[in-house]
Amino acid sequence: MEEKETNIYQQTIDKWGETAQLDQMIEEMAELTLAISKYKRQFNDSLLDYQKVGVMENLYVEIADVKMMIEQMEYMFGQENVDKAYQKQMEKLKRELNN
Ligand SMILES: [Mg+2]
Repeated sequence: MEEKETNIYQQTIDKWGETAQLDQMIEEMAELTLAISKYKRQFNDSLLDYQKVGVMENLYVEIADVKMMIEQMEYMFGQENVDKAYQKQMEKLKRELNN
């Protein structure tokens, strides 16, 4: 995470508080869930081209929102703690792939 972004994540806490950021994380995850659901559903629905573009644009936006909120969570709970867990989970995934 860049220094400039770290500053942004502290500013959001200063302005809205940590509890609001946790709520925001939950909301953004729900929005991404919905966007993925719409993305999957479009293959069954006969959408017009512009509607398909809308579905994809919405998906990209919601992925970006969740990515930002994950960075916010890393800032709040400690980059090192998340990095350690990430490495552990990545090793677990690699072991599962090799089984
Ligand atoms: Mg969103």
